[in-house]
Parts: sequence; structure tokens; C-alpha cells
Amino acid sequence: MRPPILYFLFSDIKYLKGIGPILSKKISGLCGGEKVFNLLCHKPVAVIDRTYMPAIPQAEDKRVASFQVRVETYEEPPRERNLPFKVMCRNMSGFLQIIYFKMKADVIKAMLPLDEERIISGKVEHYGQIVQIMHPDRVGKVEMAEKIIRIEPQYPLTAGVTQKKLQDTIAMALEKFPDLPEWQAAAEIGFKNAITEIHNPKSETDLLPTTRARKRLAYDELLAGQIAQALVYKQVTKKPGVIISAHPSHLALDARSSQQTPDQVQGVARHGGEDILPFKLTNGQAKALDEIHADMASGNRMFRLLQGDVGSGKTAVGLLAMLAVVKAGHQAVFMVPTTLLARQQKEWFEKVLNQNIGISGYSDHVELLTGNEKGAKREEILARLKSGEINILVGTHALFQDWVEFKNLGMIIIDEQHRFGVLQRLKLSQKNEQAHILLMTATPIPRSLTIANYGEMQISRITEKPAERKPIKTLVSSIDDMGEILASITRALAKGEKIYWICPLVEESEKSDLAAAKDRYEFFSSRLGGKVGLIHGRMKEAEKSAVLEKFLSGEHQLLVATTVVEVGIDVRDATVMFIEHSERFGLSQLHQLRGRIGRGDRDSTCILLYTGRLGDESRERLKVMKKTGDGFIIAEEDLRLRGAGDVLGTRQSGFAAFRFAQMPEHEDLLYAARDEAAGILRNPISEAVKVLLALFEYDESLNYLNAG
Ligand code: ADP
Ligand code: MG
Repeated sequence: MRPPILYFLFSDIKYLKGIGPILSKKISGLCGGEKVFNLLCHKPVAVIDRTYMPAIPQAEDKRVASFQVRVETYEEPPRERNLPFKVMCRNMSGFLQIIYFKMKADVIKAMLPLDEERIISGKVEHYGQIVQIMHPDRVGKVEMAEKIIRIEPQYPLTAGVTQKKLQDTIAMALEKFPDLPEWQAAAEIGFKNAITEIHNPKSETDLLPTTRARKRLAYDELLAGQIAQALVYKQVTKKPGVIISAHPSHLALDARSSQQTPDQVQGVARHGGEDILPFKLTNGQAKALDEIHADMASGNRMFRLLQGDVGSGKTAVGLLAMLAVVKAGHQAVFMVPTTLLARQQKEWFEKVLNQNIGISGYSDHVELLTGNEKGAKREEILARLKSGEINILVGTHALFQDWVEFKNLGMIIIDEQHRFGVLQRLKLSQKNEQAHILLMTATPIPRSLTIANYGEMQISRITEKPAERKPIKTLVSSIDDMGEILASITRALAKGEKIYWICPLVEESEKSDLAAAKDRYEFFSSRLGGKVGLIHGRMKEAEKSAVLEKFLSGEHQLLVATTVVEVGIDVRDATVMFIEHSERFGLSQLHQLRGRIGRGDRDSTCILLYTGRLGDESRERLKVMKKTGDGFIIAEEDLRLRGAGDVLGTRQSGFAAFRFAQMPEHEDLLYAARDEAAGILRNPISEAVKVLLALFEYDESLNYLNAG
């Protein structure tokens, strides 16, 4: 329930004076929400100082200035279209010429009537002896002086919303801002004053993240997030979890292991992969597995995040953890974001389990459940799930529909979890109250963002890759010479290489992305024939699988793809990747894409193509990709260069985009907020803190206060 004191801030912008339904739509698009508080979170990005009032002849060229002048004469243009309407004005210091293009004469005359005094503000330009302002930003009567001659905040705009309209609307909303109770113990400035200061910058330095106002608001935002995360965490973990004993016998999965001495068996537990998987676990994998086992044996519910770069082998860790759960007589589910990936993972699980004599029986008990399993097939799966016959269920979010019932679910793994929203995460944790939860993400998130987004969650990080993996050579190159590119592709194909061609990210429209991919596909097919395949997000699952199958088998050697390949596709002998318009991708995304190659033992090359001229920022970003393959370094750089929103992808990623906080600048505030949140939760939550949570739209987390 939203505290009544916030009603105004959460009322619709369209009810503000002077804002109709059309304008409110535009403004809410601009501000990321239709509430008054969204509007007030729209920060200015520049200031214009209109208090500069020089003598007219001395006014600095190209600088914004204000003048009080008398209107003397008009110079109306003849009929030709492109000549301006000129208004000659003067004051004691000299003459000022105002010019308007393509504006109706009577409108101008009404605004600037002859022989009247007016305040005019705009950018000054000198033409020889003439001092002029073209289309002044502000024109008003002398009584308006105070409203015009001031320092103005400048906001990001959108078509149909003027600077003035936005300024006035925000100022109006600020006037009605309620007096909120104080939730900070020792605040230098109150919330209302802080937000008022944000909208009244006096200079460019007032726009920095280091002002006291901005820091106050950032802290509040982070504090609200930390309290909410901590509430959820407490709720999830305070439940007793299924006890999955880490006793070695559970992991001594085959005859060989059980004949070993207890010490050696312990070794199997720690490096258990050897006996089940066709490879030895890396130290990072083994450590992560240890941490998971310790959690699951603790009697409390596990709530852990496994972070590891693309290809670091998280899936293997997940599989071993699931096996321990299955051995203990429980079921496990493994959820991934796409059907394609679900099928791949299921097949890999089956293959691995089949290869191992000791546990091959389990391969019959791995099942797939996605949106594609329908009718009788689905009924059959659900029945076997309920009876406990299925031990490991792999699927997409279809898994968490209400009608999916388990016999005794012991573990939930969510892979590439940032694709699933925070809310899905919460729902899930409530659904199966005792099951351990492991989230896995290949998005290496900087430390600060991890804490901001997951709060107190336990974290395991795999920082190394399986040793045999070779570094990927990365080149940055212009797409200008398609002839040369085609020649090099032809050479590579002759050598039997498999190549990805990733198509440009054309803003965020799936349609144009698709068109671009199809064009490329046709271009390559016309020259290379049937060796070329196309895969994109609009294809049916069966079609995608068929194409991927051909790429796996080598029938297709060049796969033209949209960014669907970003997530988890595993074609181990793909060795070359071209990324078209790489300058438009975020670093983290490039890193994910690049992780699709270099998976086997052959040398791999990634060619980052750009179109036109590279800007400085793009050049610097692509350089980072050349320099390092370490996802955590790339993520930190991405954060530094582009800000949190871009590192995490768009809002749909399920990560909250900050309104006031900025990383890494506010990292210290984040840690302070985390500590304070822990303190706050030791006592009953005050009304003031409830207001804070509601303000940043974490009201829902309050439900966890009372639950259980
Ligand atoms: P992630 O999910 O972290 O991107 P995967 O689990 O898909 O990585 O593993 C990537 C590839 O590396 C898979 O083909 C997997 O079989 C292989 N792999 C995983 N762990 C090891 C290891 N310790 N040694 C060798 N290969 C490994
Ligand atoms: Mg994976």
C-alpha cells in the first residue's frame, strides 16, 4: 500500500496543469514513466545562464545573453520565401537586430509590438557592425524579467516537448512536492530540498554526481534497493532448505570412486568432475561446487549467484550440483532463456550421463519442457514429473507455470539469469519453498552492480577458463572492402573453418535487424551457395534447430545470425566471427558474442567490423576488446565508458536502471547503504522507511516483511 503522502508524486503527469493526454504520453516516454515522480527524476544535463546582460555592442559572440530593448522598426521581407523578418530594437548601449525565418509576420508583431519594451534572451551573433539574435529563446514583457533572466536547467528532450514546457512543468510539480518524513539519520539536506536543487543548477558543476543533492538522492535510491534486496534475501533464506548432505558417499557416483579411501573420495567430491565429466574441473569450478555443496548441506536454503565468464564451464558445475541433489532423492530443474538452449543443454546432460557407466540410469530421467511440448506429450511429462520419475527437468520459463508440479523439488538453477526479471526471480523463490536456488550468469557484472542488484546474495565467481582454451585474436577493421572480406571468407571456408557473421544491431528494432540479416544472407548465398545458413529470433524453434544442426554438422559453414547466438550456443569448432557494425554494440555484448568462438582447440579470430568513420569513444571501446578477453575487466571498462544502463542492457534485462545513482562514482554510497540497510532491518521498519521504499517502487518487497 502506497503511503497517502506520496499520492501526488504517483499521480499521472496528465493531470498537471497544461499537460494533456498527448503531451503526457511524450513526456512519460522521455522520463521513463507516467508518474509525477518520474518527471521529477528527469535530470537536467546542462545549464543556460541568462543572467548575462552586457552592453549590446560588447556582447560576446555565440554566448547566450539577455537584453531589455525597445522595438523600433520592422523590416518585412518581400515575397521571396527564404528571407527573414527583421525586427530592429535598441537600448542605451546600442542596436540589436532580431531575425525570424518562416514565421508569420502578425505573430512576430504581436510578440514584439513597435515602441514597446521587451526582454529578449538568446544566442548573440555578430555580423560586422550588426549584433543579432536569431529566433530568441525567450521574449517577454518587462514584468517577466525575473522569469527570463535566470539560470535555466536544460533537459534532454523529445519531439514535441519544448525546453520551456518541461522546465515549467517540473517547476510546477516541485511547488507541490510534499514534505516527506526523514528516513536518513544525519542528512545534510532533506529529500525535497535535494530534488529542488537538482532542478535548479547554478552552473555546470551542479550537474555532477558529486553535489550534496545528487549524493543524497543517490544514497536514498541505493538504500531503498538494498533494503528491498535484503528483505527478499531474508525471506528466501530463512526457510529451511532440503538437506543435501555433502557427505562423500553421495558423490562417489560409481564403483571406482566407492573403492577409494575416504580421503580420495573427498578428492572426488572436490574434483568430482573427473568421474562424471569428460574433463577435469578447473579450480574455479571446483571451488564453486564446494561452496554450493556447503550451502546445500547447511540446512538453510541456498540462494547463490554463480558468475562466470562465457565458456568458464558453469553448466558443468550446475550439472554436478544437480546430480548431488538427485542422488539425495530429489528433483532438480534447470531453466534457460531460450528453447534452443534448453534442447542443447538437455542433450549435453544426457550425453554426459550416458557416457558414465555408474550413473547412466539417470539419463533416462532427464526431460525437456518448453512451450513446444504440448498436448499429450506435455501431459505425459507432467505426470512423470509428479510421480518423481523425472529427476532433471530442463526448460524455459514454461517450467514455472502453475500447472507444473514436482514430487520433491530440491534445486532450481536459472541459467543466464539476468534475462529473467527480478519479479520472476521472486515468484520462483516463493513457489518451491525448500528448493535451493542457484542463479548463473555469464554477464560479468562489476562488483558494485552485483551488490546493487543482488544485495546480500551469496556469490561464487569462476574467474578462469578451462586450460586448453586458446585466446581469441581480435581485429578491428572497416567494412569498406567487402571484396577483400569475401575473399578471406572464401579462403577460410576452403580450410574448413566455421564462421559466424553477426548482423548489425540496428537500434532496438527487431524488424530492421531482421532485414539486415536477410540482406547479408542473400548476399553471401549468392556468392557462396548452400554453405550459408541464416538464423534469427523470428524463426520457429524447429527451423532454428535445423539450421543449427547443419552448422554443427558442417553442411553450413557460414552462419549469418542476429544476436540470438549471443546466449549459450555451443558449436565448438566455430573459429571465426565477424561482427558487423560492432561500434553499435555494448562491450559486454561484444564479449558475449565473441565467447561463441574459441571453444575448441583451434585458433580463433574475431573481426570487429565498423561502418564509416569511428568516433573516439567507439575507437576506445573496440580497443578494449582487442586488449583483453577477461569479461570482468571488460565489464568494468564498459561501466566506465558507458554507464550502468548499457552494461546491463536495456531495462528489460531485469536490472533496475538507476535514476540518481551512478557507478562507479557512487560506489562508496552503495556500500554505506548496504550497511545501513542491514541495520534498519534489525528493528521494526519505520513509517519513514516505508515511504522511501514506496518512493522507489519497492513497495512489493514490504510484503516479505509480514510473510512467514
Ligand atoms: P558457460 O555456461 O560458463 O558459458 P559451458 O558450461 O557451456 O560454459 O562450458 C563451455 C564449454 O567448455 C562446454 O563445451 C563444456 O563442455 C566445456 N568445459 C566446461 N568445463 C570444462 C573443463 N573443466 N575442462 C574442459 N572443458 C570444459
Ligand atoms: Mg552457459
